[in-house]
This record gives sequence, C-alpha cells and structure tokens, in this order.
Amino acid sequence: MKKVAPFRCRDPGLECDYEMEAEGEEELMKRVEGHVMTAHQMDVHKEEIRKKILGAMR
Ligand SMILES: [Zn+2]
Repeated sequence: MKKVAPFRCRDPGLECDYEMEAEGEEELMKRVEGHVMTAHQMDVHKEEIRKKILGAMR
C-alpha cells in the first residue's frame, strides 16, 4: 500500500493556503519544490529548507 503524504504551506509557518499531496515523500517533494521556489523564493536544495518541508509532510 502506498502512503499518501500531505503538505501544507502553513505547517512550516508560511502565510499561504497552498496544499498538495502525493504518494510518498519523494513525489511530494517534486510537486512542492516548484511552488516553494517560485512563490516563496525558497531554495529547496538547501538542507535547512528541505528539512523544514520534509518535517511538515508528516
Ligand atoms: Zn505556499
């Protein structure tokens, strides 16, 4: 069975109503990174940002 991971911008404390979910964290990260890079100017390749996003997926 595949685990569905949700992400909301509000979870890591962003002022935004964006929500996304995907089957697994890797797929979700792919979908979310475009949004956080363009909408929030966050570089998902930075360890610190990545951890923030991954932490919000659980
Ligand atoms: Zn957002």
